[in-house]
Amino acid sequence: MKGKKEKLGLIFFPAYDWAISDYHPEREERLLYTHDQLMEEGIFDFPGIKEYRPIAATAEDVLRVHICPPGVDKVAAAPHLISAGGAITAGRLWANKEVDKAFALVRPPGHHATLVVHGGRGFCNINNEAIMIEKLREEFGIKKVAIVDTDCHHGDGSQDIYWHDPDTLFISIHQDGRTLYPGTGDITEMGGPKAWGATINIPLPPATGDEGFLRATRQIVRPLLDEFQPELVVNSAGQDNHFTDPITNMKLTARGYAEMSAIINPDVAVLEGGYAIQGALPFTNMAIIMSMAGLDWRKVNEPMPSQGPPTTDPRVLDYIDALTESIMEMRANPKPEKSGSVLRNGWWQRDRRIFCDTHPVTRDLEGMWPSYLNEHRKESLRDCPDCPGLLVVETSSEVCKGGKYFKLPRQACDKCKSLAAQVNYPLG
Ligand SMILES: [Zn+2]
Ligand SMILES: [Zn+2]
Repeated sequence: MKGKKEKLGLIFFPAYDWAISDYHPEREERLLYTHDQLMEEGIFDFPGIKEYRPIAATAEDVLRVHICPPGVDKVAAAPHLISAGGAITAGRLWANKEVDKAFALVRPPGHHATLVVHGGRGFCNINNEAIMIEKLREEFGIKKVAIVDTDCHHGDGSQDIYWHDPDTLFISIHQDGRTLYPGTGDITEMGGPKAWGATINIPLPPATGDEGFLRATRQIVRPLLDEFQPELVVNSAGQDNHFTDPITNMKLTARGYAEMSAIINPDVAVLEGGYAIQGALPFTNMAIIMSMAGLDWRKVNEPMPSQGPPTTDPRVLDYIDALTESIMEMRANPKPEKSGSVLRNGWWQRDRRIFCDTHPVTRDLEGMWPSYLNEHRKESLRDCPDCPGLLVVETSSEVCKGGKYFKLPRQACDKCKSLAAQVNYPLG
C-alpha cells in the first residue's frame, strides 16, 4: 500500500569479517544479498531514502544498559559496538528530525542480550535497541518508549532489560516458546511487580502466516500502542518468520512483513534475525523499507512455492482471538504477586538462572572459556512508594565471580538513591 511519503534513513553495517563460527547461520554474507537487491532496485534513487554511516557505541553506552561482570571488552568486539552504534545513528537521525524514520540494517543482532552479560546468547552479545534507547533518553530526554519485537524468537533479552520499567512498553510477537529457542515468552510474562502490563507476549503457533500475524498486530499491538502513547516506537525487526527461514517454522511473506510494519508504524527499526539470506532477507528488508518510506510494496515478490503463498489455518485465527482476550483480561487485572517475584521485608526478590550458549567474544579465547555458561542471578527490587524502585542484582557464572550491582530507575527517589550509595547493606 502507498502511504504518506516519509524521509527514511538507512544504516548499513554488514560486518563482513565477523561470524561466531565458519558455518554459523548468523554469518558474514547475511546482508550481502540485501545490499545487492537494494542497489538493483535503485532504492537509493528515491529522493526520500538516504544511506548513513554507523558510529561505534562506547563502553559507556553499553554500561548504561548492561551489567558486564567480565568487562565490556570481553563481551563486545568491534562489530558488536558498531552494530549497536548503527542503531544509535538511526535513533539520533530520528530524534534530530533529520529523517521521519530510520532503519538500521546491522549485524550481529542483540535482542537476546539480557541485563547482565556474561556471554553470548542466541547470536547476541549486547542489546542494540536498548543501547540506542538509553542513549536517546539521555541525550534527548525521551521518556516513554515502546519496543515491538517481530523476530520469530522471543525477545527475552529486551524483556529482561525492561522487566521492571513501567515507561518502556515491550511487546514481543513470536513463535510459541514451547516449540522454539529460547523457550520463554508465555502470555503470563507481563512485567515485574512494579511494571505489570508493560511487558506483553504474543506467542503464535508454528505455521502462522500473514493473516495470523496481521490479526494479532491489529488486535493486540496497535491498541496497546495507541493506549500507551509512546514518544518513540522501536521495531526489533527480525525477519526469521519468513516461510523459507531455515531455523524457524512460521509462514510469513515479505508483503506480510511490510503490512505488519505499516500497522506498527515504527519510528526506528533495527534488524534482528533472518537467516534465509538469499530467498527471503533481501525481499523482507526491501518490503519493510518500502513500507517505512510510504512506497507501494505490493510489487515485492519473493520466489513462492508452486502451490502459491502460504495461508493461515482458520483454527489458528480462532486461537489468536482467544489469545487476545486472555492478554487483555490479564492486563486489566494486575497481579504483581504472579510476576515471579516474592515480596520479603519490603523487597521483591527473584532468582534466575540464565543460559549463555557462547563464550564472550572471539574464537581467540577458545580454551580459556567454556562454550556454555550459566548465569546465577538474584534480583531484589525495592518496593518503593515513590519511584519504580532500586534494583539490586547479585550475579555470577562458572567463570566469572561477578558481584553485587545496583540499577536505579531514571526517576529514582532520594531514598532509593541514598540506598544505592551504600555498597553493602542487608536485604530481605
Ligand atoms: Zn530470531
Ligand atoms: Zn524509590
